[in-house]
Amino acid sequence: MKIVGLTGGIGSGKTTVAKMFSELGVPTYIADDEAKALINRSKVIKRKLINLFGDQAYLGNTYNKTFIAQAIFNDKSLLKAMNSIVHPKVASHFIKWKEKQQSDYVLKESAILFEHGGDKDCDFTILVTAPEAVRIQRVVDRDQRSKDQVQAIINNQLPDAVKIKKASFVIENTDMEATKNQVFKVHKKLVKASKVS
Ligand code: ATP
Repeated sequence: MKIVGLTGGIGSGKTTVAKMFSELGVPTYIADDEAKALINRSKVIKRKLINLFGDQAYLGNTYNKTFIAQAIFNDKSLLKAMNSIVHPKVASHFIKWKEKQQSDYVLKESAILFEHGGDKDCDFTILVTAPEAVRIQRVVDRDQRSKDQVQAIINNQLPDAVKIKKASFVIENTDMEATKNQVFKVHKKLVKASKVS
């Protein structure tokens, strides 16, 4: 079974696009959601994150998202250390999940697919794009964050121009119907490619 990585910058619409693939019957693994669930569930992760960030890392059994987000945004070495705790757990959880699926291919959505070399474990990759101004407006509307805050996150991510060169497929997500058409076309290609190789 092939692994297809799906990624895109903040507000590009990767979750929206992942849902479209899921509606076509493709088993879809949302790495960010699974990571959050594992951070709350795993005692080993909890112990290691408290060692790294201090007791404030958790509020009871739930990780303190605001505190951790702020800490890792300001200190790249903390982000790296956190990733080295969480990523291997997500990777092994994904492998177990994949073994239970029956499909030509599975989709793994990750915001940091190219940034962390996750694309090396994928047979194909899909990048979701949209103009920067559109992405900023979507996130401002969705999360009540300021334009400057969203811009700062964008500046922290790998530019689309770099990711486009790495991706097997690019889906431009501006008009919903046009996006659905692209998803359908890419899906057909992926089913075909999964069967031949
Ligand atoms: P993040 O990186 O923040 O998780 P994302 O890339 O997963 O974002 P989505 O959550 O799918 O992006 O989309 C961001 C917002 O934009 C959502 O509110 C979504 O409903 C909206 N959106 C996505 N695609 C479109 C579109 N083609 N037209 C209009 N709104 C859209």
